[in-house]
Amino acid sequence: MACICSERAERYNFAAGPAMLPTEVRLQLADWLTQAPACGVPLLEQPFTGAGFRQLMDETEGLLRTLLAIPPDYEVLFAQGGASAQFGLLPLNLLAAGQSAAYLVTGHWSRKAFIEACRHAPARLAASGEATGYTAMPPSRDWQVPADAGYCHVTSNETGSGLQMQAFPELAVPLVADMTSDLLTRPIPVERFGMIYASTQKNLGVPGLCLLIVRRDLLHAPRAGLPSAFSYQVLAEQHSRFNTPPTLALYCTNRMLHWIAGRGGVTAMAQRCRERSRQLYDCIDASGLYRCAIRHEDRSTVNVCFELTDDSLLAPFLQQAERSGLHNLQGHSALGGVRASLYNAMPVEGVARLVSFMRAFEKRNA
Ligand code: PMP
Repeated sequence: MACICSERAERYNFAAGPAMLPTEVRLQLADWLTQAPACGVPLLEQPFTGAGFRQLMDETEGLLRTLLAIPPDYEVLFAQGGASAQFGLLPLNLLAAGQSAAYLVTGHWSRKAFIEACRHAPARLAASGEATGYTAMPPSRDWQVPADAGYCHVTSNETGSGLQMQAFPELAVPLVADMTSDLLTRPIPVERFGMIYASTQKNLGVPGLCLLIVRRDLLHAPRAGLPSAFSYQVLAEQHSRFNTPPTLALYCTNRMLHWIAGRGGVTAMAQRCRERSRQLYDCIDASGLYRCAIRHEDRSTVNVCFELTDDSLLAPFLQQAERSGLHNLQGHSALGGVRASLYNAMPVEGVARLVSFMRAFEKRNA
């Protein structure tokens, strides 16, 4: 099977994360690693408590605050351990002893967050997408959130299946959202949330850093059993420098935030997300070979997941895509199928190339 792109044609990485970075950011990263500023020591090797690195962290926080219009009564924290660590740290930080939390289970990642929370605190289901095979978001009018729950947890975008929340309700209890795969891809009403968290390896840089945006009144002194390094209050008091922060990941997120700001901010990112995903969903819906199971209104603009109606064509589809410079299109390991992750760095030309590959593949296999 001949490759449909020339040796020199651009390659596109559709991986779900670690995900592609803009070329500009890659080059800045290379510079940062190799060039020493006038004072002689590259920033990567400077003390994290020194003025240079403190300035980088302050600037990163400022950019995030501006891009998301984060109100002043919220802390921005830079944590480690990924979003998976927060699954357990959330109940330990946000709940008083004996207090329960409510969870919306809409797919792979929200189920993981729920199961982990149950290990640390009483947690119950607010709603589940099981009845629809996790192909639709349970409407917020059906959520059952006890009035005394410490928080209600949602996953704004199920990265594995491509199911995305389009609106966030105002609840009587703090809404907590895992936004690992869609933070900074659209405007969000931060004031509706008690806490938002996101690992950075999809839309915001490389792995190693998890951004936490927490309403200040939810911070408590660490309870017994919670190590200080994982206490949100301690992190806030120490400006996320309780111990050595992941300096390289922070630098990369700083560059990504500049990159987003320079391209019109989150409104422009949302417009690009809609345009990219629309092209791909239109191709899928018009075809007899590809099928997306997710309800139209709940389809993700960042992870487009679909199946091939003839399963035996999946392996050749993925192999030929790779040979054509369209990389990492395999679905989540637990779910199979195809997944095209279209995060902020994906150019619209990448989607156009994928769409023409898909049309040609369908024609060849009709
Ligand atoms: N939540 C969501 C929605 C995710 O997509 C992922 C990673 N794919 C995680 C949590 C886990 O993130 P990490 O690997 O940084 O722990």
